[in-house]
Amino acid sequence: MSISGYTRRKFICSATTLLVPALAPRWLAGSQSQTRSETRLILLGTGGGPRPRKGRSASAQVIVVGGMAYVVDCGDGVATQLARADVALTKLRNVFITHHHSDHNADYGNLLLLAWVSGLKTRVDTWGPPPLAHMTRLFFEMNSYDMKTRIADEGRPPLIPLVHAHELIRGGVVMKDEHLLVKCALVEHPPVKPAFAYRFDSRDRSIVISGDTRRSDAVVALAQGADVLVHEALYTPAVDRLVARVANAAKLKQSILSHHTSAEDAGRVAEAAGVKTLVLSHLVPADDPDITDQMWIDAARSTFKGRIIVGKDLLEI
Ligand SMILES: [Zn+2]
Repeated sequence: MSISGYTRRKFICSATTLLVPALAPRWLAGSQSQTRSETRLILLGTGGGPRPRKGRSASAQVIVVGGMAYVVDCGDGVATQLARADVALTKLRNVFITHHHSDHNADYGNLLLLAWVSGLKTRVDTWGPPPLAHMTRLFFEMNSYDMKTRIADEGRPPLIPLVHAHELIRGGVVMKDEHLLVKCALVEHPPVKPAFAYRFDSRDRSIVISGDTRRSDAVVALAQGADVLVHEALYTPAVDRLVARVANAAKLKQSILSHHTSAEDAGRVAEAAGVKTLVLSHLVPADDPDITDQMWIDAARSTFKGRIIVGKDLLEI
């Protein structure tokens, strides 16, 4: 599809927009020009796929604003990556899961538990597709021995009443508090359904996280005019090499190409949405030494005129 095709759809999507301006805090209106953001975005894990790697952790981001941490996706190692980023686990306030693939949720429960053993005493809200509430209950059941022991032995407040899991089934406003207005949009990541992208609007910044998706007009609509779009990206020429190592190569290649977005298409989405900065993340392949940052940038540059950043673990944007 051409860029102009996207532009046409952009206006159609805008007409049935997910955004609910009436719910937006007043301070969101027109405050985009600042030299230094008070809203921090830190990439915690930038590799696509659940297999543990040396070079890139699995999908996770944190937005820090007003001294609170809003974590988006909980791939393997998310708690450790927060520690490495010097974000105190006791500041955890909200957790957002884009979809239930293990490279995005493997450490969801562990993040809650490890934040609690690190001293968390305050409420945490978690948001994501079903069966998030059931998963949360099962995780606590699995870890009930440790939790009971620590409550009795260390005098910690019970963890279970602190955690409130909310299941999302459609796009729209997710939540708002004194720091952020959060919206989501349904994206296409078959066969995982629903799968979401999220948008975070603060006083000084707008950040969109695509989650996993094939090229999506819903992301174009959600990301309209955003400061930063973190978009998953696939380096298409490398897929053949990637799948060559496995027995079911043909099926895997078809699966990867139909469920994900190439770096060129991530650029098209960013261009159609008019975002300022495109961050390529959830990189597939995640650890191919023959694919340089410049190759990722060149792929996205062919379709996007704005600023392009190749995601790195612990990079603050
Ligand atoms: Zn996925």
